[in-house]
Amino acid sequence: MRGTLILMLAAPILIVSTVTAQDSPVVGLNPLTEVEFSQLSQRDPNPLSEKALAIHPDQWKHAETEHFIYHFVHGYVATPVSIEAEFHYRVVAKELEREQLTTDIKSHIYIFESPEEWQQFQTFGHLEQWTGGIHSAGSLFIQRDPAYKFSNNSLGHEIVHLVLHRFYTDGIPCWLDEGLAQFISKDAHASYQRARGYISKPHSDSIAPADLIPLATLVTITHPPSERVHTFYDESERLVRFLDTTDKPSFLKLLDALARHQPFETALVQFYPAQFSNVAALEEKFREYASKDFGSSLQQASN
Ligand SMILES: [Zn+2]
Repeated sequence: MRGTLILMLAAPILIVSTVTAQDSPVVGLNPLTEVEFSQLSQRDPNPLSEKALAIHPDQWKHAETEHFIYHFVHGYVATPVSIEAEFHYRVVAKELEREQLTTDIKSHIYIFESPEEWQQFQTFGHLEQWTGGIHSAGSLFIQRDPAYKFSNNSLGHEIVHLVLHRFYTDGIPCWLDEGLAQFISKDAHASYQRARGYISKPHSDSIAPADLIPLATLVTITHPPSERVHTFYDESERLVRFLDTTDKPSFLKLLDALARHQPFETALVQFYPAQFSNVAALEEKFREYASKDFGSSLQQASN
């Protein structure tokens, strides 16, 4: 178990399945149509964009879909990324009831292939330990080794961040951003797999009661704490799941209030008046929910 956790932390993006290229579930893809850089519909104002495209500038190709612009080396690496990106866009918009929201700003995704170039680029941005990607001001930078088949929810997780950033450009609290990224991408990953003929159920990790971070602390954390990174992500995901399933309309109002920088306790009491009179009342019910099935999921988690 411990060994698995360390491996996941050290190299999360290298978690691969044994599915070979011939078994690929992604069949009949419409390959991305390459577009000249000068012909792209939008520019990326992110300073990291310039840094990325300056690394072997002659290698980069470009393409667009409805909500994203891609910068990549090989089309066969970028095409599956584009399918997952648009898939997750729809899932997030539906989950947050933002399907009617129209914005023509596209998010940029940079796909590195060479490990050396990726390492070189990492010095410019902050690597998310959970996924191995770099999300910065609405743009995403990732590495994909074409030799591997990626089968976890790490790309989905990053795409959720991109879409959340588009809907809430001023940012949302860290627990909510990471919790939503996990909550939505885990469920979406399972349905994505099911749509391609795999048997897959979303898996939410429960937390040992003694490990839980007190809610008053959790909601004020501004960056995933590296010494408790697993607990932070799992607990944030469970809290989002709990608030969402307790009362979805209230959850969406809470999300909007927190995006407008309202304090957590004030917004909680305002939008869940019948369920939680204060954070302590939420904590009491949440602790039980967060630790539910703890122990029985250990086997599954260590697989
Ligand atoms: Zn994240």
